[in-house]
Amino acid sequence: MKNLWNDDTAEKLVADYAKKGVGRDLALRVYTTRLLGGVPQLVLHGGGNTSCKIKATDLVGDEWDVLCVKGSGWDMAVIEPQGLPAVKMGALLKARALDTLADEDMVALQRANLIDPSSPNPSVETLLHAFLPHKFVDHTHSTAILAIVDQEDSKPLVKTVFGSKMGYVPYIMPGFDLAKAAADVFDADPTVEGLILDKHGIFTFGDDARQAYDRMIHYVNVAEEYVARNAKPKAAKSALPAKLATPASIAPMLRGAVAVARGEGRFDRMISDFRTSEAIVDFINSAAIADYAGRGVSTPDLSIRIKTGPMAVPAPDADKIGDYKAVIKSHVDAFAKEYRAYFESNDALDDVKRTMLDPMPRLTLVPGLGMFGHGRTLKDARIASDVGEMWIEAVRGAEAIGRFHPLSKADLFPLEYWSLEQAKLASNKPKPLTGQVVLITGGAGAIGAATAKLFADNGAHAVVVDLDAEKAADSAKKAGNNSIGVAADITDPAQVRAAFDKAVAVFGGVDILVSNAGAAWEGRIGELDDALLRKSFELNFFAHQSVAQNAVRIMLEQGTGGVLLFNTSKQAVNPGPKFGAYGVPKAATLFLSRQYALDYGAHGIRSNAVNADRIRSGLLTDAMIASRSGARGVSEKEYMSGNLLGQEVTAQDVAQAFLHHALAERTTADVTTVDGGNIAAALR
Ligand SMILES: [Zn+2]
Repeated sequence: MKNLWNDDTAEKLVADYAKKGVGRDLALRVYTTRLLGGVPQLVLHGGGNTSCKIKATDLVGDEWDVLCVKGSGWDMAVIEPQGLPAVKMGALLKARALDTLADEDMVALQRANLIDPSSPNPSVETLLHAFLPHKFVDHTHSTAILAIVDQEDSKPLVKTVFGSKMGYVPYIMPGFDLAKAAADVFDADPTVEGLILDKHGIFTFGDDARQAYDRMIHYVNVAEEYVARNAKPKAAKSALPAKLATPASIAPMLRGAVAVARGEGRFDRMISDFRTSEAIVDFINSAAIADYAGRGVSTPDLSIRIKTGPMAVPAPDADKIGDYKAVIKSHVDAFAKEYRAYFESNDALDDVKRTMLDPMPRLTLVPGLGMFGHGRTLKDARIASDVGEMWIEAVRGAEAIGRFHPLSKADLFPLEYWSLEQAKLASNKPKPLTGQVVLITGGAGAIGAATAKLFADNGAHAVVVDLDAEKAADSAKKAGNNSIGVAADITDPAQVRAAFDKAVAVFGGVDILVSNAGAAWEGRIGELDDALLRKSFELNFFAHQSVAQNAVRIMLEQGTGGVLLFNTSKQAVNPGPKFGAYGVPKAATLFLSRQYALDYGAHGIRSNAVNADRIRSGLLTDAMIASRSGARGVSEKEYMSGNLLGQEVTAQDVAQAFLHHALAERTTADVTTVDGGNIAAALR
């Protein structure tokens, strides 16, 4: 572990913050907090915190001794001074005399003593920081330290590795009791430079920012060197099939298996993030990987991300890929069954009312390939993968010097089901399309872009497919929610396949298709150039078939249903003069939608069409509007609102119809008209 302290950078930050009225101590607290937070082997997604003890002035000018401690929700790597809320020390210190302090009361005490009441909640480890006398206190969940403390008999090992310079604190769940116990260990020998917390992590402290940071890096290095010096030869590897299946070929099966069935064909789906590297695969190929995975998480707060630990599945044999779906399903079922038993047995131990979280794994280890992080959003799935990489590092170290023996699942339970975490989850309501992936063709056009944005606003991740790579990326960026742009000529089946492969690679699968791309050619049908009609059929019919085929292939592998949505046109039911080249293939596409509804309804796949007319877009440009309204002798406004409602219909209105169809769970083989009312084109 490299010591990243740099005098120049530190002093520059001090000078910059001085201009904003931030003192030297707090500026350096920000500096080393960022140094620690930027290294995943030390701090990962909330697994660590820091503090410093300074003076602060309140609104009426009174000066207080305060603890500036990491606030909840702040990422240490990019922390700012306001991410270290100031809490009055007096009240925190008084709390040490209490016998007990409930978690909710601890939070209330901390909040009641904030200098700025709009601050985020101070860390759950605030009291531990407060009870130690040092000006600067650093805390991490270093993977090297975890390799030492995740052993059955860690206490003597901690003594062997660190000598008497570090205190040893047995495992206690974070909160008031741990803070008191840690302070007692310190008081028993105030010469220690830090504390090793069994099954949890490390605290170091010092009189200044640099001393606390230097000690953190030093003791992490002591642990790393011990592991390197005492490492046993690598464990045996499992035998792999001669030909491995690809990640893309198993991702939809896996994504389908970890979706939470809500009954009657409804699912809470997850996003899968595939992660691999030589180091990941080397470890996952260990013959004992399923055993390691079953033992649990390397530090307890990982349970919030990957529950009781990863799920290991067998390596997928490319020659037996047909059987693999059942293999995955049986492993997921076993994981869920064990999780339910874990919940029920531990929940029964007291009268606390808890809601069981879904029992699905959040991290799947696949020998030969790598791992899949799962989450309701891409962000959560990526966090699960990040956590998986650090779990591997800790377990590898622990196994190198002994046997990985983390906190028992019974001791893990109170943390995973901590009342404060449950309250946070309850307030975190998913959006209607959270967990779903929508692929939109013509995604950079007016209707496609509006649809991508609306679906993303409703929780979906959008795969925006368009001929133009830059426009696709731009539309995806405007949609937000980690949506991606993919360039493809959808009249080329190989490019369509590649676009779907990309969706699977990034999100794990596809749930909704909006087959929207189209183009219009004009000409009286009897005199139409045959090549032109065929060209129109390629885009306005065969491309719809090609994307629908790919979507259905993935949806069937997932086994969680899906939605196909086709942008047909008023022309499909009500032909316009000299518009046959456009209308005839669109009419075929309308029936294509019905055919899919008929053939795949039994698999929960719905298929609907949206019949839009007279929308300002690439198909109906401002120049065309000017020329057509001129030809009819009406104003542009009259032309665009020439419908029963007398209102212009926009791309936004069409997007709304697609969203309606995505959410209407019992509607299939339907056509929705979005044209402001055109009685001649009305259906039935
Ligand atoms: Zn911690």
